[in-house]
Amino acid sequence: MMAQYLEIKGRYADALLFYRMGDFYEMFFDDAEAAAAALDIALTKRGQHLGKDIPMCGVPVHAAEGYLLTLIRKGFRVAIAEQMEDPAEAKKRGSKSVVARDVVRLVTPGTLTEETLLEARRHNYLAAWAEVRDAAALAWVDISTGEFRVVPCPAPRLGPELARLAPRELLVSEALSQDRADLIGDTGLPVTPLARAAFDSAGAQRRLCALYDVATAEGFGTFDRAETAAMGAIVEYLDLTQRGKLPLLRRPVKEMPGGVVQIDAATRRNLEITQALSGGREGSLIAAIDRTVTAAGARLLERRLAAPSRDLGVIHDRLEGVRHLVDASQLTEALRIQLRKVPDIDRALSRLALERGGPRDLAAIRAGLAEAEIISGQLSTGTPSRLAEEARNLLGFRELVDLLEAALVAEPPLLIRDGGFIATGHDSELDDARELRDRGRGVIGRMQAEYAELTGIQSLKIKHNNVLGYFVETTATHAERMLSAPLNETFIHRQTTANQVRFTTVPLSEMETRILNAGNLALEIEKRLFEELRAQVLNAAAQISTAARALAEIDLTAAFADLARGEDWCEPKVDDSRAFEIRGGRHPVVERALRRSGESFVANDCALTDDQTPAIWLLTGPNMAGKSTFLRQNALIALLAQAGSFVPARSAHIGLVSQLFSRVGAADDLARGRSTFMVEMVETAAILNQADDRALVILDEIGRGTATYDGLSIAWATLEHLHESNRCRALFATHYHEMTALSQKLHGVENATVAVKEWEGEVIFLHEVRKGAADRSYGVQVARLAGLPASVVERAKVVLEALEKGEREGGTRKHALIDDLPLFSAATVAPPRPVKGTSPVEEQLRGLHPDEMSPLEALKALYDLKGLL
Ligand code: ADP
Repeated sequence: MMAQYLEIKGRYADALLFYRMGDFYEMFFDDAEAAAAALDIALTKRGQHLGKDIPMCGVPVHAAEGYLLTLIRKGFRVAIAEQMEDPAEAKKRGSKSVVARDVVRLVTPGTLTEETLLEARRHNYLAAWAEVRDAAALAWVDISTGEFRVVPCPAPRLGPELARLAPRELLVSEALSQDRADLIGDTGLPVTPLARAAFDSAGAQRRLCALYDVATAEGFGTFDRAETAAMGAIVEYLDLTQRGKLPLLRRPVKEMPGGVVQIDAATRRNLEITQALSGGREGSLIAAIDRTVTAAGARLLERRLAAPSRDLGVIHDRLEGVRHLVDASQLTEALRIQLRKVPDIDRALSRLALERGGPRDLAAIRAGLAEAEIISGQLSTGTPSRLAEEARNLLGFRELVDLLEAALVAEPPLLIRDGGFIATGHDSELDDARELRDRGRGVIGRMQAEYAELTGIQSLKIKHNNVLGYFVETTATHAERMLSAPLNETFIHRQTTANQVRFTTVPLSEMETRILNAGNLALEIEKRLFEELRAQVLNAAAQISTAARALAEIDLTAAFADLARGEDWCEPKVDDSRAFEIRGGRHPVVERALRRSGESFVANDCALTDDQTPAIWLLTGPNMAGKSTFLRQNALIALLAQAGSFVPARSAHIGLVSQLFSRVGAADDLARGRSTFMVEMVETAAILNQADDRALVILDEIGRGTATYDGLSIAWATLEHLHESNRCRALFATHYHEMTALSQKLHGVENATVAVKEWEGEVIFLHEVRKGAADRSYGVQVARLAGLPASVVERAKVVLEALEKGEREGGTRKHALIDDLPLFSAATVAPPRPVKGTSPVEEQLRGLHPDEMSPLEALKALYDLKGLL
């Protein structure tokens, strides 16, 4: 057995091997040690190998999914080796022969299909990036829904694309050059290197043709070599992990890079589109606006927000659908009631295709398609073209639904082997077998009465368990009588427990065999019928999957309509002008949070005027006034509009946005070890290098992370560059009041400020955005609100007055004052010199600069220190 184990393990060296032994998956050697630690289960031993104990641990098969989930989350891959024959078969070959085993599946984060392992409302993408000479492409697939896409993706676009898709696993060629590997390393994704051959574009052609059973892949579009290679690598990997059972994949769709709004990783993070800065979904845009009622609708919303469209036709079609459902509120409500009953058709279909499906997956298809027909009917009149088309995609399943309705019971069990999912009346052979089985059970009931009479023991029972099968049971008090003549001629003793004695009889065992045979036969028939139904469903897989998409589309449209009505949002006017006119705009997430605490949100206008090319608002105002909120709300309004949703505003006119950029200046974050100022500058550079004249750029306190004059000059030059070179629409928040003078020099720049009121020495935030510059920053007052000690606040007031006075009297005094302030020089104070006579450890410690070290260097330093003891 060990020889077999080691042979299989040798083929899956980089995965944990789940080795099936009876009711357990066992792990051995290093696998056992790693898994026992990761799963917090007991590590035991079994036999010896090369004179050493073999560590072993195991998980029960029936609970394996839970353990798998933990292992996958912790970054393991798991190869599942099953017994490929009945142990009895192996015995026939000789007493020493080992049951044949082989890996049936390699479980990796990107290739999950089980309901328990997946998040219902999120996609589970597997991506592959290929570079062929000067072309590069990213392909991705969700095998749980069949979506398969590819996009041209040169190295610099890889980060943003991966940020959009957030795949669970990325495949790359093992021949990747170091700089490419570094680039991918930065994204923090689990990366699986594949042999170079997996990315060979000629082989990829063959694999794709085989997958779709076509002679040439040209039928679904033209793909360059990099695109073909990336898609081919995915197919190769699926073949490897699914061990030859290929999932149902839709035909690959090529995305045009110009088709969607370009949003990079930092912008996504900042705008908290699908994930809040804190890491979870709560507090993100998607959590605030998701009103979909199906899992597929929720996944579509995620895709839509991650990639808003740049196609005016598409945007208008989507908005038209939402408008129709906003106006027809009763219809929307009725649709949503129906949609709630639609199960996850996509995922059921994919499990069926991979032979991992059960009766409930068939029932899900049945329920989904039956609802689809009703929903289609609801949309039959007066529906705008796109929705009407989706409604048509929901039809044509009458026969299949009828078949499934006739064949399946109302609430089938999860597993095929449980049986009992085929309805009575669907198959006469099955009905006969079941009747035989049930009749047998009736006979046994009658036998009990007979035996009670025969023995005169009224409490005698016939029972069943998995070990003994059927047996006669009496209490121990009657044992004597049963075990002696004449009763012992009929009753054959089987077992004595503490209180009971158990017997069998010849007629009882005969009846049992008959029941068992009939039951087995019934189960065999059910299995065969399941396969037939599965084949029927898979036959229609392409149409079913189109219907599933249509349902998701309708769900999302209805969800947007429900949101628009409930939150009083308006339909945006999107065209190809360069307008950005928002009246009464709100921030959906902040508004929701305020509402919870009983406060109301102050709506604000934003008009980046249309008639001159660069259009920039320079926003000043004290901290906490609402600058960041205002900036982000405008970016989100643009994003929502192009995603096809109404927007949180009284009115909105938006000229198509091609790229969205958002950056926030941050103070140095010492704990992260990398200067965030550096990060901020790298990110700002990316905007200045990339933003075109259709970009919408949001810059919040750029330059804050460095000393005043550095920061001011960087912010200043950045604004000039946006105005002169990028010529884009931008909102620029800063606390450098000096910059407000720029509006006189740069014709496209306007000043705006968030109003505050001063009352008895306190600031009151009005959260109102107005044209004009802030008169002062109120930083000291804000500091007081934050609970800074009174003495510090008083001192700060004095310093501020002195500084302001200095400013009025000319620059010299201010400089002198700044030099006097320890605040500005604190950061540059040299570390204290080593005092004579200190230990070598202390000396070495003094020389360390944790902020400049990588985790690995830090670890090494720790070892060095330890070495000095
Ligand atoms: P700043 O960027 O100016 O420091 P923020 O945008 O972070 O300020 O806003 C600070 C707080 O003010 C927010 O957390 C929110 O509670 C509140 N706020 C911001 N904008 C508004 C608004 N328009 N209406 C009501 N409250 C607001």
